[in-house]
Amino acid sequence: MTRLIFLGPPGAGKGTQAQILAEHLHIPHISTGDILRQAMKEQTPLGIKAQGYVDSGELVPDQLVQDLVEERLDQSDAKSGWILDGFPRKVTQAAFLEELLQKIGQGGERVVNLDAPDDVVVTRLLSRGRKDDTEEVIRRRLEIYRNDTAPLIDYYSDRQKLLTINGDQSQEDVTHELKKTLGS
Ligand code: ADP
Repeated sequence: MTRLIFLGPPGAGKGTQAQILAEHLHIPHISTGDILRQAMKEQTPLGIKAQGYVDSGELVPDQLVQDLVEERLDQSDAKSGWILDGFPRKVTQAAFLEELLQKIGQGGERVVNLDAPDDVVVTRLLSRGRKDDTEEVIRRRLEIYRNDTAPLIDYYSDRQKLLTINGDQSQEDVTHELKKTLGS
C-alpha cells in the first residue's frame, strides 16, 4: 500500500513525477491544482469560488481544499493507495489531513520533498506558460511556498515521514532516484 504526499516549490516537477509514479504503481494521482483548474473550467460552485485565488497565486481557503480532499480520498480507487500533489500546503492543512487519515484508517503515508533552487523553478514555470505562470504570480506563489508550505518540511521530518529528492536533474533521473528511494 503506497500513500505519498508530494511537497516542493511550484515548478519542482511534482505533477510530472507524481503522474509517472502513480501510473507505475496503479494508484490515483490526486492533484488539488488539477481538480481546481477543472472545476474552474467547468465553472462549478467550487471553481467559481477558487478562481480569484488561483489566478493571483494565493492559496484558496482551507475549507474548500479540505472538503475536496476528504471527498476524493473517500472514492473507491483511493482505497488501494494514492499520491497527493499540492496538498497539504500549510500546517493547518497538514493537521487536518493527519486527523482525516486517522479517521478513515488510511495511515502510513510518506512525504516526498522534491527540492529545486528558485532560479531553476522560475525558468521552468516561465516556459510552461500556464495562466498563473506570469512573473508576478510566480513570485507570489514562491513567497507563499516559503512562508506557508516550506514549514511542512520540518513538520514531516519531525514525524519521520520525510524523504528528500533532488528535483534539479533531468526528468528521467528524478524518476529513477524516486523509485530507488521508495524501493518501487
Ligand atoms: P504549482 O505547484 O505549480 O504552483 P498547483 O497546480 O499545485 O501549482 O496549484 C495551483 C494553485 O491552486 C495554487 O496557486 C493555489 O491557488 C491553488 N491550490 C492548489 N492546492 C491548494 C491547497 N492545498 N491549498 C490552497 N490552495 C491550493
